[in-house]
Amino acid sequence: MTTSIPRPDALAPTSPEAGTALIAQLAKELYAEFRRGSPGTADGKEVPAGTGTSEGLAGAYPTGANPVTPPVHPGVPPATSSASGNGAAGSGADRVPAFYFLHEPGAVGLSRVPAIAHVPSPSPTPVFDVERVRSAFPALHQAVNGRPLIWLDNAATTHKPQAVIDATSQFYRRDNSNIHRAAHALAARATDLYEAGREKVQKFLGAADAREIVFVRGTTEAINLVAQTFGRKFIGAGDEILLSTMEHHANIVPWQLLAEQTGAVIRVAPINDRGELILEQFAALLGSRTRLVSITHVANALGTVNPVEQIIALAHAHGIPVLVDGAQSVPHLPVNVQALDADFFVFSGHKIFGPTGIGVLYGQSKWLEQLPPYQGGGNMIRDVTFARTTYQSHPQKFEAGTPDIAGVVGLGAALDYVQGLGLPAIAAYEHELLAHATDALASVPGLRPIGTAVNKASVLSFVIPGIPAEDVGRHLDKHGIAVRSGHHCAQPAVRRFGLESTVRPSLAFYNTREEVHELVRVLQLLPKP
Ligand code: PLP
Repeated sequence: MTTSIPRPDALAPTSPEAGTALIAQLAKELYAEFRRGSPGTADGKEVPAGTGTSEGLAGAYPTGANPVTPPVHPGVPPATSSASGNGAAGSGADRVPAFYFLHEPGAVGLSRVPAIAHVPSPSPTPVFDVERVRSAFPALHQAVNGRPLIWLDNAATTHKPQAVIDATSQFYRRDNSNIHRAAHALAARATDLYEAGREKVQKFLGAADAREIVFVRGTTEAINLVAQTFGRKFIGAGDEILLSTMEHHANIVPWQLLAEQTGAVIRVAPINDRGELILEQFAALLGSRTRLVSITHVANALGTVNPVEQIIALAHAHGIPVLVDGAQSVPHLPVNVQALDADFFVFSGHKIFGPTGIGVLYGQSKWLEQLPPYQGGGNMIRDVTFARTTYQSHPQKFEAGTPDIAGVVGLGAALDYVQGLGLPAIAAYEHELLAHATDALASVPGLRPIGTAVNKASVLSFVIPGIPAEDVGRHLDKHGIAVRSGHHCAQPAVRRFGLESTVRPSLAFYNTREEVHELVRVLQLLPKP
């Protein structure tokens, strides 16, 4: 590389504008370098490596209120109504999941995939300028093991745009204070920023009310919160919680803990060989003892996009509420919780270009107002005596102690950034990239894709029989390519395919075709299996 990577302190800008300009310049130089081919790659050769009870549930959804007939044959429930949000609302042709049809079942290659230009688009989609987007992400512009970093571990976590870094550091530089308590200028400012973050999340998800947004540490804590509040209140011995085979451990273990505490039973809806939920079997598992469905929107190990609208409609037809794990969907797909009619929706800030340590539980008010507190402490109380304590209403009831205020500020900046690009434009760009990458990976000798759902987002899991996934991961790392190899905290999903681990590149909107080509080129350097 002719461009040297500056030390982090050399990047310290004299002003936010100067910082952005410097990063943009570095980005351009490094990326141009990468596209020309760095030393040792131009000739295509390897270079040496240098990386309870059922109380309250009945009647929540009046029987017959939903047009879906219970599960003789589930069919496809009608689409739910639209509402404003981050672009998900709408009907028919403007449904973004249309972008995600990769392969018709049984189709070979991509010949049957409509070109992206032919897919009806909700509105004229602006050209997605990936070079400009990349220049906003400082961490993408570094060398790893002597090669330009290619970050394909986005399902694990995403990098942060300068706007998020600036917003967080500005908070600590200028606005830092605890919230809700002291009556002074900085406390008021910090409180305003924190509550503005809540409103940003409300708008992003299309929630009816900002009070339906609870800040937590991440998806994991959000699911644990629901398990220990909703679960303890509404789920008793012999009651059932319905999950699917493709869940992340974060959507399995909290329910197992609850089952140990209450005697509840976990049921698991199976998936087919493409990694898709078998909707008929899911529907058949909805019964009179089912108290909750908890299901992922996009499966982290397989990339499957679940038909959550249909899942929710089917569950609601039985009066059963649904929690949607949106950890892997919100960075890639427009979501509108009112259009979905999700009872609970959870996601993590760090997977959507925001900070670690901050996440969101959305819950419909009708649930949140019934649930007991999760943790006790400051902020969540109305009045405390040793005889009796009364609580705030939601969301404060669930936010005991000092929250991650800077995290909320950073998350708000991340959502602003993503919405600035536009989820429909992101989905269209990523769809094209995913289809291209799926096709390109097929040229790697022996490569077996794991998770070939018709409807997919971001994830390109695979194995190369004869070469352990961890070895493939290390080989890629030597070339500056970051992917995850292992079970991806989804052991039941991976074991469904007779495996203990896979290699998992996962895409975000800042990835490029050139990076995909480099991934394929480096995989082709592996010894033939
Ligand atoms: N659910 C899904 C689908 C995930 O992919 C992940 C993380 O990979 C989680 C839950 C847990 O997220 P976190 O570790 O941010 O709490």
